[in-house]
Amino acid sequence: MTRQMTVPVSFEVYPPRSPEKLPGLKESIRVLDSVSPDFISVTFGAGGSSTRDSLEVLRFIRDESSATPLAHLTCVGTTRQEASELVVSFLAEGITHFLALRGDLPEGALEHRGELHNAVDLVTLMHELPDMPKPLERIAVAAFPNGHPESDSLDHDVETLLRKQEAGATLAITQLFFFTEDYLTFVGKAHGAGITIPILPGLMPVVSPSRLNRVVELSGENRPAELSEALSSTEDAAAREAIGVDWTAKMVRELVDAGAPGIHLYAFNQHRTVLSVLEQSGVR
Ligand code: FAD
Repeated sequence: MTRQMTVPVSFEVYPPRSPEKLPGLKESIRVLDSVSPDFISVTFGAGGSSTRDSLEVLRFIRDESSATPLAHLTCVGTTRQEASELVVSFLAEGITHFLALRGDLPEGALEHRGELHNAVDLVTLMHELPDMPKPLERIAVAAFPNGHPESDSLDHDVETLLRKQEAGATLAITQLFFFTEDYLTFVGKAHGAGITIPILPGLMPVVSPSRLNRVVELSGENRPAELSEALSSTEDAAAREAIGVDWTAKMVRELVDAGAPGIHLYAFNQHRTVLSVLEQSGVR
């Protein structure tokens, strides 16, 4: 029998690339809401989506689910004025929970146009904003258990997260990773460095070799050989899904047993796989 464990769960979705996919995402959000997630976060800019696209999904979460909408915002290449107006425009919509990110400039773009250079700058700006229509309730930031691709050591990533905490971040959400030990090592180092904000592990159930290739390419994570071989050992989609769900559900159990403050699942705009992970791991 599966042991029941109670920790907060949350999901990440992204604004769909084409409007025809929006009804499907809305349906997935309704189903995800059935497990009473703490929050559902919506990506920003990634894949070419606009502020309007993000806001449309955030408003739906705000109005049609019990979850808190959490808006990702990036700041690279923007002026202080632009970033301030962006944050205020989200606050005016009642969105008060944010994930403050640097983001990545498209290749070849000129970074010097911007006045904000990293996530610390954005967190600081958020705290300095005058005349806010609503108070900011949560400022989350990204953390990288296996190091950001631009970082030369894990100590540097811990140091960066400490700077984000000092600037006023109240939560960290990790980049996806494939081994529980990677998270635990990072959290141990973070605690040792004086980081006290919760570090929420971010997990993505990967259910096909092509998705694994894409995820490894985008995140810079090392390829998990055992998972890669297992996914490539069959052509059957259901069998592959079971492999990805098993892998992630095992990590969820290990992470919760080790004291993780919650589980954040990259839902890929679908509900079935992430809900299977929660069911199989015994987390509600
Ligand atoms: P930062 O933490 O500011 O910097 C990244 C790294 O650069 C640091 O870890 C550090 O190694 C180095 N660095 C930063 N400042 C300094 C400094 N002063 N000196 C030396 N080195 C420094 N991208 C999107 O476009 N849209 C999204 O919605 C989105 N959502 C994300 C959600 C999560 C949970 C995560 C983990 C990532 C997400 N990303 C998103 C990707 C993110 O934008 C990229 O990883 C980006 O390269 C870094 O953003 P950051 O906020 O981590 O940057």
